[in-house]
Amino acid sequence: MHRLLPAALINQGQQQLLGLFLANHCPLCQRSTPAALCPSCCRQVRQCQSVAPCDRSQPGLSVVSWGRYEGGLRQLIGSLKYDGHKDIAQFLGTELGQTWLDQRPALPRSPRPTAIVPIPLHPTKLQQRGFNQADLIARWFCRLAQLPLYSQGLLRVQATQAQHSLGYGDRQRNLAQAFAVAPGQVNQLRNTTVWLIDDIFTTGATAQSAAQTLRRSGISVGGVCTVARAIAWSDAASETSPAETGPANISALG
Ligand SMILES: [Zn+2]
Repeated sequence: MHRLLPAALINQGQQQLLGLFLANHCPLCQRSTPAALCPSCCRQVRQCQSVAPCDRSQPGLSVVSWGRYEGGLRQLIGSLKYDGHKDIAQFLGTELGQTWLDQRPALPRSPRPTAIVPIPLHPTKLQQRGFNQADLIARWFCRLAQLPLYSQGLLRVQATQAQHSLGYGDRQRNLAQAFAVAPGQVNQLRNTTVWLIDDIFTTGATAQSAAQTLRRSGISVGGVCTVARAIAWSDAASETSPAETGPANISALG
């Protein structure tokens, strides 16, 4: 009953089928591996994992980060964002979800159910990259932690200058009006406590701006989960008092 398929399509189909049985290539070193990463690169990435992932030095915001933005982890995030290796998000999102679940008993409790909202990219940036890495990471995070994902909960309404070139004060000014809550999701989100998801935590200016935007709409925010933390933050710093690790110090370090 089926008409014969053109040869090109058959080849394409065969190649896709073959791809299912062939080993992947490690996105960092290109060696073939049946896993997301080869054992050697996996070790290098795991060396960046933090032993104390939770930090409460940010005013009003718990921060849970899987690891330090250095070495193998930095390379892996770069490979996801700039080389388009989207399957890396599965590894990062699942690891981050497990870390959040492990930290959960020590985090401030909320009577409302948790909702996950990724930090959005500006539409122009989204068009250039083709995907929002925070959203991809959030999908796997939610799959593991069994939490609802509001991919479009926050919108980026203003293009901002690249944050890495700015100090903390300038970052905050740069981001002051950057976000808006999606009008169709405000009511739903008001019944939840939002946890934000991003790939990298630098000075906290992005997370604070997103949290302020949500709170101005009457939405409660628990904190932010990021794969990596970029500032010079020793695991011991998360145990010290907020005064010792406040934004002024973070600015000097960032
Ligand atoms: Zn490798």
